[in-house]
Amino acid sequence: MYELMFKNTSIRIKLIFLFGLSAGVALLLVTTSSFIYNLYEYKNTVVKESIKLAKVSGKNIAASLMFEDRESARSILQPILNDENVYSIKIYDTQGHLFTTIDNRTLLFNNWSADKFASYPDINLSVTWDYIDVLTSIIHNNESIGFLQITSSTDVIKKYMQKQGLVSLVISLFTLLIVLLLAFWFEKIFSRPIYDLLHAIKDIKDNSEFDIYLVSHTKDEFNELYREFNHMTHEIKKRDNLLKEHNINLKNLVNSTNEELVKTQTNLDEAFILAHTDPLTNLSNRRNIMEQFDLLINEAYKNESYLGVIMLDIDYFKRVNDNIGHQAGDIVLKEVSRLLKKNARDNDIVGRIGGEEFLILCQHANADTTHKVAERIRQNVEQKIIYYEAEQSTQVTISLGFCSVVPQLNSREELIKIVDEALYQAKASGRNHVTQGFI
Ligand code: GH3
Ligand code: MG
Ligand code: MG
Repeated sequence: MYELMFKNTSIRIKLIFLFGLSAGVALLLVTTSSFIYNLYEYKNTVVKESIKLAKVSGKNIAASLMFEDRESARSILQPILNDENVYSIKIYDTQGHLFTTIDNRTLLFNNWSADKFASYPDINLSVTWDYIDVLTSIIHNNESIGFLQITSSTDVIKKYMQKQGLVSLVISLFTLLIVLLLAFWFEKIFSRPIYDLLHAIKDIKDNSEFDIYLVSHTKDEFNELYREFNHMTHEIKKRDNLLKEHNINLKNLVNSTNEELVKTQTNLDEAFILAHTDPLTNLSNRRNIMEQFDLLINEAYKNESYLGVIMLDIDYFKRVNDNIGHQAGDIVLKEVSRLLKKNARDNDIVGRIGGEEFLILCQHANADTTHKVAERIRQNVEQKIIYYEAEQSTQVTISLGFCSVVPQLNSREELIKIVDEALYQAKASGRNHVTQGFI
């Protein structure tokens, strides 16, 4: 029930409901009890008056009863019947026999039995919803000479009840209205600080803005709540700023670390190139080409493919150095290297393995292909006019030894020995020559 009614209602509505309900219950209790009390008092007054009337009337008709003068009794009692609330008047003798009766309506009321008169000689009262019945002794010389019964309606009480009820209802409704109006005003005192707090929290959520300071105009728990809230936002703001600062520092650190890493990587790359390249010719150095050589032998062995190996040496290079100088000799070395690279295929590996000695490794090259590559290089070098200064040029030749194998557990040293011997033969046969070596 509570769930159904209040789960989705706001604090504002709950407060108004609470005020209204409390006031309503209090009003209901007060009005009902005062209504019942008033009614009870009024009824007592009416009953007392009825008794008084019966007693007075009893005295008045005592003489008429003594002389059994019915007419006189009736005329004495007639004025009472002018009150329309009096239904009937009956007179009984001491035995309880009806002496005479006068009434406004033909209604059948209590018929009192004789023994009842004996047990209630002085006064007997019966009050029901519709009528008040009073039975009293008619006394003469301190002796009961008969009974008088006056029956009157309760209409006057009912009317009073209606009027009183209506007045109570109007007063109650009016009071309830005032209470509700007060509740609307009063509710603000409780709910406003809560809504202020709620808006502040929403503000923080939407704008991430902690620069909020709540001011309470009361000295109650809300004041305490606001103070704690302000303290909390202040702390959060402080931490937020600290976090931002740390974040910036961290970013700077990451940036500089990144830069360091890039630098280190560049240095490593350079070191790698330096470690693997010959600085004068930019070809692979001896160590690098030997490593590659082992790898290519393995690969060719696995794939059962050819590996072509060419070793070459510049002819009479000592003489070149002697004639044009060591520096010009370097230029010749560079130029020959460039030609080697240019005439080798993309996949081929070209390296400098000594002063003016070079090695070329040709993947998937059988003897014929390797021979052609070697011959092309020889011719290119032979034909090349090398300028080592403006208008100062020279020409060199080279001798080449080569072999091509499908490796069968052949070592690098074994293959080098074969091409070295072939190169030696090329030199021996007059230089500027290509010679094939065999396993
Ligand atoms: P051959 O035809 O028998 O090969 O005769 P060669 O003179 O070329 O042979 P040798 O081995 O006697 O001489 C090689 C020369 O290469 C000796 C050396 O001065 C020269 N040389 C070695 N490295 C360099 C270098 O880096 N730069 C220059 N300019 N010359 C070098
Ligand atoms: Mg040499
Ligand atoms: Mg030489």
